[in-house]
Amino acid sequence: VKISPEIQDSLEIRFRSTARDLNRRGERIISLGLGEPGFATPAPIIDAAAQAMRDGHTRYSNPFGLPELCERIASKLKDENGIDAKASDIIVTPGSKMALSLALGAILSPGDQAIYVTPCYPSYLPQIKISEADCVARAIDLRRQDFRLDLDAIAAALTPATKALIINSPHNPTGAMIGRDEIEALADILSASQCILISDEIYERLNFSGAPHISPASHDKLAQRTITINGFSKAYSMTGWRIGYLHVPDRDLLRVISRLHQHLNTNTAAFIQKAALAALDLPPEIVAGYVATLAANDRALRDALAGNPTVSVRPSKGGLFAFVNIAASGQTSDAFATGLLERHRVAVTPGILFGAAWDDHIRVSLASSREEVAAGVARLADFAAQLSHG
Ligand code: PMP
Repeated sequence: VKISPEIQDSLEIRFRSTARDLNRRGERIISLGLGEPGFATPAPIIDAAAQAMRDGHTRYSNPFGLPELCERIASKLKDENGIDAKASDIIVTPGSKMALSLALGAILSPGDQAIYVTPCYPSYLPQIKISEADCVARAIDLRRQDFRLDLDAIAAALTPATKALIINSPHNPTGAMIGRDEIEALADILSASQCILISDEIYERLNFSGAPHISPASHDKLAQRTITINGFSKAYSMTGWRIGYLHVPDRDLLRVISRLHQHLNTNTAAFIQKAALAALDLPPEIVAGYVATLAANDRALRDALAGNPTVSVRPSKGGLFAFVNIAASGQTSDAFATGLLERHRVAVTPGILFGAAWDDHIRVSLASSREEVAAGVARLADFAAQLSHG
C-alpha cells in the first residue's frame, strides 16, 4: 500500500494506547494529555439516543442529515454566529474530522496548494495529503506573532494555486483565538484569490477569553468563500459518538462534498443525530460549568509555572489546551514528556507532534478535574525546576 511518510498514526489513538498500557500495569498516572473533556456525556443526550433507537431511527437516513437537525444547526449558525445559513447548506458528518476531510477532498486537485498554520491539530497535514497526494502543503509558522495569525506570511504564501486555507479558533494546541482584526485582514488578503477558507470551530463553545468567538463566515467579504466546520465532540463530551457538520454556502462545492459523503459514509447514524439535537437543547449551565473549570485550570497552570526557570506559558483563551515553552530545559519535547511521565507519572503531549518546529514546547490539557490538573501542574513545575539544576 502506498502511503506518504507524512501520514503517521493518529496522535489521539497512539496516546490512548500508551495510557492503557500504563493503567494495565497498575501505574496511576495523571493525564494532562487528553484531547477530550473529562466529564461523561450528559444524560439527556444519552436518553435521546436510546429513545431514538427504540423509536426505530436505526436505518439509512437522509445523507445531508435529518432535516430537523439541519434546521436546528442553521438557526444556531444564524443566531449565534451571524452566518446567513440555510438548512440546505448543511451536511452532517461522522465527526468534524470527516467534515474537514470531505471539504479538502472536494476542493483540492493535483498541483494545488493548501495553507495551514503550525503548530496545529495533527490531522490537518495527513488530511491534506490523503485528499490530494500531489498538493503542496504550506505551513505558516505561528511563532513570529506569538501564536496570532501571521497575516504577512499568509499573504506572501498565497499563489493562484492556493485553493484552501485552514484556520482554527479557539486553537489546538495554543489556546489562541482569532480576533476581529485578523478576520478583517484575512478578508482583504483573500479577496482576489481562489482560496476557500476552512474555519475549524470545534472548540467554539469552550471560550473563556471574555471576548466573543468570531466566525469568519459572518464577514460579508468572507461569507461566500468560507466553509464552517463544527461538531459535538468537545462541548458536549461526545468524542466517541462521531458527529460533526459543515456549512457550505457555495452550491457547486456543496454538491461535490455531498457526493463524496454519500459514497464514503452514506449518512451519519440517525439516532446519534437525534442525540445531537438534544445536545443543542441542553441547558447552557452544563457547558458554562465546564468552561469555568477550563479557565480555572488555565489559571492554575500559569500560577504553578510563574517564575519557573525552565518553562513558561501564555494564557489560553479557549479550547482544551495550553502550549508550554520548554526551550530553557534544553530537552526535546519527547525527552521532556518521557521524563515527566517516568519520574512524576504525568502525561503531556510532545510539541513535535504539532509540527516539526515545535520540539521546544509541550501541550498540556486543561480538560481534567481541578484536583487532577492542580496535582499534575505542581509535578510539572517541580520536574522543570529540577531540570534547571542539572
Ligand atoms: N479539529 C480540531 C482542532 C481538533 O482538535 C479535533 C479533535 N481533537 C477535531 C477537529 C476533530 O474532532 P471530531 O471528534 O469532531 O472529529
